[in-house]
Amino acid sequence: MVPFNAPGAIGREMQYVQEAAHSGHLAGDGPFTKRCEERLKGVLDASRVLLTTSCTHALEMAALLLRVGPGDEVILPSFTFVSTANAFVLRGATPVFADIRPDTLNIDEAALPSLITPRTRAIVVVHYAGIGCAMDRIMALAGSHGIPVVEDNAHGLFGTFAGRPLGSFGALSTMSFHDTKNFTCGEGGALAVNDPALIERAEILREKGTNRSRFFRGEVDKYTWLDLGSSYVPSEMLSAFLLGQLEEHERIQSARERIFRRYGDALRAWAALQGVDLPHVPDDCGPAWHLFYVRLPGLEARQRFIAHMKSCGSHCLFHYLPLHISPMGRQFGGRPGRCPVSERASDELVRLPFFTLMTESDQSQVIDAALAFRT
Ligand SMILES: *Cc1c(COP(=O)(O)O)cnc(C)c1O
Repeated sequence: MVPFNAPGAIGREMQYVQEAAHSGHLAGDGPFTKRCEERLKGVLDASRVLLTTSCTHALEMAALLLRVGPGDEVILPSFTFVSTANAFVLRGATPVFADIRPDTLNIDEAALPSLITPRTRAIVVVHYAGIGCAMDRIMALAGSHGIPVVEDNAHGLFGTFAGRPLGSFGALSTMSFHDTKNFTCGEGGALAVNDPALIERAEILREKGTNRSRFFRGEVDKYTWLDLGSSYVPSEMLSAFLLGQLEEHERIQSARERIFRRYGDALRAWAALQGVDLPHVPDDCGPAWHLFYVRLPGLEARQRFIAHMKSCGSHCLFHYLPLHISPMGRQFGGRPGRCPVSERASDELVRLPFFTLMTESDQSQVIDAALAFRT
């Protein structure tokens, strides 16, 4: 069986984990954490990057940093992972679900003006599959209303829009280093702070509401409770593994690009004949090569495709169930029909096996199986 995902060490991960284990410093914010943060800061040209225990936690920090609270509204795409919404709902805010564009499956910037109200406290975007949202229009619109933008950049690290890194547009952006992402340490994440005014409080929230970060830098002679906060610092063991991955970013991204392009080239003619859509990359987007999907014409064909692929030894997966029709989303006024593009994409989309260490022969098996399918 070709698995859907198969994460693994590809560089110095194990060497660094051993070094961390023998260093006498297993907690967070040691040398490995700092080296990961510096690398990511360089990639994004961010004011500050803080490693976190997950992307979910980085999103929770974003909600705290923007002082989102009860009565506030946060606009986000319905077609995303629950954490994009939950982080803000935890603060008492109301999620306002935006539909997605049919071509990129990213938040539909044309739908935003009608969703903005005087209570809108943030707009959260997701660069689905690592292909950028229309950040020019989104930033212009948000800026004209004075609304901060948060990029949930779980898919988009090393992707670009108009030549600029995804994750560098919003006041804040978040990354995931979960098993399923391009770069992993099993469970992990990061918060990029692009607005320097938010750096000091970000450090405090991440350190249980204390100024321990400044204390460790010798800037204050004791540390104390200053604000809300929680425990969002990952252990050095995880940072050590992650550093091994980040150092190999060129190899990882070029392997993934090759897999993505081969799927596209091999499936294009079949897809056109069968009425199947493949990922669309707008001209101004440099993809992060996070995932490859095919879009079947309808739920029935999609289910048959997944079963067919399984019988041929390839593990394929559908993706997000739209948040606006989830039991929780309905509590915020979500109803079927409100985000029709999200609903259709959710029914029709299948993700093909896609991982950095995927072999050519594994990929050939997936491709041959797909080419044998008739809608
Ligand atoms: C994976 C993912 C997350 C959550 O990441 P964790 O690191 O597992 O918390 C959030 N948003 C999106 C869009 C994701 O794909």
